[in-house]
Order: sequence, then structure tokens, then C-alpha cells
Amino acid sequence: MDERLLREYAKLIVKKGANVQKNQLTVIKAPIEVYQFVRIVVEEAYKAGAGEVIVDYIDTENNRNAYLYQEIDKLKEVPEYKISRAHYIVDNRACHISLTSPNSEALKGVDPKKVQEASLAAGEKLSFLRNYTMNNDGQWTVAAVSSQIWADKVFPNVQNNVDLLWDAILKACHVGLVDTINEWEKHGDSILNHAKLLNEFNFEKLHFKNSIGTDLEIYLAKENVFAGGDEYTPSGVRFSPNIPTEEVFGMPYKTKVNGKVVATKPLNYQGGLIEDFYLIFKNGMVVEYGAKKGQDLLKSLIEFDEGSKYIGEVALISHNSPISNMNILFYNTLFDENASCHLALGQAYSMNTKNGTKLTKEELVARGANFSHTHVDFMFGSSDMNIVGTKENGEEVQIFENGNFVI
Ligand code: ZN
Ligand code: ZN
Repeated sequence: MDERLLREYAKLIVKKGANVQKNQLTVIKAPIEVYQFVRIVVEEAYKAGAGEVIVDYIDTENNRNAYLYQEIDKLKEVPEYKISRAHYIVDNRACHISLTSPNSEALKGVDPKKVQEASLAAGEKLSFLRNYTMNNDGQWTVAAVSSQIWADKVFPNVQNNVDLLWDAILKACHVGLVDTINEWEKHGDSILNHAKLLNEFNFEKLHFKNSIGTDLEIYLAKENVFAGGDEYTPSGVRFSPNIPTEEVFGMPYKTKVNGKVVATKPLNYQGGLIEDFYLIFKNGMVVEYGAKKGQDLLKSLIEFDEGSKYIGEVALISHNSPISNMNILFYNTLFDENASCHLALGQAYSMNTKNGTKLTKEELVARGANFSHTHVDFMFGSSDMNIVGTKENGEEVQIFENGNFVI
């Protein structure tokens, strides 16, 4: 891959994604396979004025062995040094760059219960770190990096598949055009405008329906705010949480979701795939579910904790979007979720209700927000999706027709 383009992409991640500030502590999380790209990102971060740059490499092979050979009680331990390290990161108001390059075989043969219990224990002990990013207290961004393992999944038995995957990633992120940063800003503004339009309607509920069985009514949280594109930290630093992004997303009312949703893309969860699945909701809770493949994984996701039986996010994406039009199954939520309408089981984003980041947990619950130690997106958009919004006065507005926005 052309080093110049990779550098453009790294700059986009550093300057628009995390928007690294002068002397700011910068934490980069990435799989060890993509170290060459990480080095470019680190260099660009320092050039942008970063203070200390910490790189947390993930070695999935080592993790897999830990899960295979360690007892569940050992896996559930969260040692003090990990907690104080997380405090160091939050206390220093760090920004986070998460580089993903999925490996769907990463946890092959591992008991999902072990993974679930270990991540639940870590989720509880380190919830303050999760809240720091989910509340946008510090800038954070997620971007993807091509690798052999991932490319073999997306383009099996194809020559030069790592470069092909890079091409798709860069295209989805507007990299390589005349002025990448400018193109990205224009794209971000158009998403913000769509969110604004939806907010002006002030819908009370959304009704999703298509021919493969989705028939779902979702009431929105009180004072729901549709968000999308860029976000701001409390001190006003603008950043792009997802590179790429197409979504406009809002907060469902936890206990007011009813009907059936049929997924339209496989879900990569804890190192395995959940395929051809559906969920049935009653008063917000999943009361029935099934998957042709990965039923055990789906069960462990839904039973993760109390909040994982409810949804915390509803996102609208036109079927006719750049990522969707490439018609590639990326096996990576960051891309696949931006190709299709999606829901998330688990934690809601407090920013999706008015002044939400300043509210207490009790106040958020009263607005209808869901709480959980997980947040997992799954895709259900289709080329024939219809969405009707109902305003508080009962007036109905067609929002989607045949998969696309019509407002
Ligand atoms: Zn989303
Ligand atoms: Zn999400």
C-alpha cells in the first residue's frame, strides 16, 4: 500500500479522529499484527503535539492461551496495577485511539462463559474508564487497519487481499481525495445536518418494518437527541468517534420496545460469529431469540448482565451509503454497522438525551436510558426497510422508504 496514503489516513485518525491536543496523554490500542501502521500513527501523534503516547498491543494468541489454560477465578481477577493504570489515564484526561483489525478465530475453542465472566469482572472494576469515553469526557476514536488475518476473512483466496482491503477502508474514510481532512469535515457536517432534521421532528416512536420479518416499535427516550458525526468533549474539543461513520443514532426508551427484529448481517462477538438471528422484545426486554449459527454466543451476549437484555441505541443509515454500496461484508462492526441500520444491546450513550452527560444515573434511568457493562451493535437494515416516525401529536412521518431516508 502507498505509504503516502497510509500517512494521510494516520493524520486523519490523529487530527480529526482523536484530535490530539498539545501535551495530551494519548493511548493507542491495537493488535500486534498491525505494528507498522501503529508506528506511523505514533509519529503523527507526536507531530501533532501529543505528550506521552502509550501503545497497548493486543496479542490475540496470548489472550487465547490465557483463556484456555487459566481457571475462571484467575481470569476474573482485576489486579490493582490495572486499576491504577486506568486511573492514571482518566486523571490525565487522555485521548484514546483504538485501531481494530478483527480476527474472528481469535478465541477459537475457548469457553464463552470464561470470556463473559472475565469481561464482566473487568467491566465492573474499570467502569470509570468506560464511562470516561462513553460520556465523551476525553476524545476517542475507533478506526480499522488492514491485516492478513482480516483480509483472508473478507477476501478469501484472493491475491493481494491485504491491499484490496486497504483500498476499501481508505475509500470508506474519504482518504486519497484531493484534501482528505476537508472531505472528512464536509462529510461530518452532512451527518450533523441529518441529525438536526430528525431532532426537529421530535419523534415519540419509530416503527421499523421489512419483508424478512422485522416489525419493531421503538419509543425514544425522553428528550431524545439524535447524534451523529462529530462529538465534543466538555471543554469543547471536537472529535470523530468513528472513522468511517455514516450513522445518525438515538436513545430507545428502555422498557418501550416491542416486536421482532431480524438481523441482516453476521455479528462478530467475542471471537466468534453469530449468524441468521432474530430477537423478540416485550416491554423492552428480549423474551425470545434464535440463531442458525452461534446460538451459544448469542445466549452469552443476551445473558451478559441485566442491561444486555435491553437495547441502548437505535441507528439509522441509508441503504444507499458509500460503505453499503461497496457491498462487502467486512466482519467488522465499525464498517458493517455503517452500512446498515443497527441496534445495540446494552449501555445507552448519555449524550443521546438532552444534557445527558450532566445527569445522574437515576435521572438517566427516568429518561429511559439502559445501563449495562456491554454495548454490542448488530445490523438489521435492508434494501426494503420502511421506517415511520410518530410525533407526540400522533402525526406520522415516513422517514425511510425502501431502505433509504426520504426526509
Ligand atoms: Zn451505532
Ligand atoms: Zn453502538
